[in-house]
Amino acid sequence: MDADGSAWARFEQELADWDRAGMAATLWWRDDDAAAVTQELDRLLELQDQSALPLCLAVIPDPAEAALAARLEGASHVHAAVHGYRHLNHAPAGKKKAEFGADRPIAAMKSEIAAAWEKVHTLFGGRAVPVFVPPWNRMTDNLYPHLPQLGLRAISRKAPREPVEPQPSLAVAPSLAVADVHLDIVDWRGTRGFIGDSEALTQLSDCLRVRRLRRESSPTGLLTHHAVMDEAAWGFLARLFAATAENRRVCWLSAPEVFNLVA
Ligand SMILES: [Zn+2]
Repeated sequence: MDADGSAWARFEQELADWDRAGMAATLWWRDDDAAAVTQELDRLLELQDQSALPLCLAVIPDPAEAALAARLEGASHVHAAVHGYRHLNHAPAGKKKAEFGADRPIAAMKSEIAAAWEKVHTLFGGRAVPVFVPPWNRMTDNLYPHLPQLGLRAISRKAPREPVEPQPSLAVAPSLAVADVHLDIVDWRGTRGFIGDSEALTQLSDCLRVRRLRRESSPTGLLTHHAVMDEAAWGFLARLFAATAENRRVCWLSAPEVFNLVA
């Protein structure tokens, strides 16, 4: 068996271990940087429709077009989260990119976040979820306590690759839920292409294994970027979804379920 074949086998084995432990492996899917209806966005929504899996679309509010909301009409289990405001980098030269970093005045950031939620809520109506996804998965901790006053009830970032310690409690501020993503399938620092079946499945299996052993309930998040994915990435997603959509050991959660927003 080649490396990819072994990685798929190990993933199947991990799911079987969940089943043996009497648990279903909960997963969720976030795709970032939606603003307009493009060929790639169409491809994403076709994949979502075929697999019938719930999708949390992180929409960039300021440039988001009404056509995007219209394109989602009729889609099942697709929700729109708030991905920053303009997705602009305000970090000083030499610092890691951030739209809502510690270098900006809180008041200015608060008014942008309020406008961002207003735009997403107006555009997407019942499909909008009050979940803030900071661009580059990074924001100053100082903003967390303000998010609930701005109507936002949850945040989602990228979890650290290998947490040595159990993840901190779900709340970073009162009334603010957290669900991060764990597997990013784009190799941003290298080829900017797909990281490969073997790497993706190893990360996913490792993450699930740690959760299973610790009996952690917080779901494991998959992060995609429709605008930049290559054929190998699309192929992997189709195979992953086919392998898990009907699998009783796996439960793909919708955004309201992930963030406890179900009324
Ligand atoms: Zn982004």
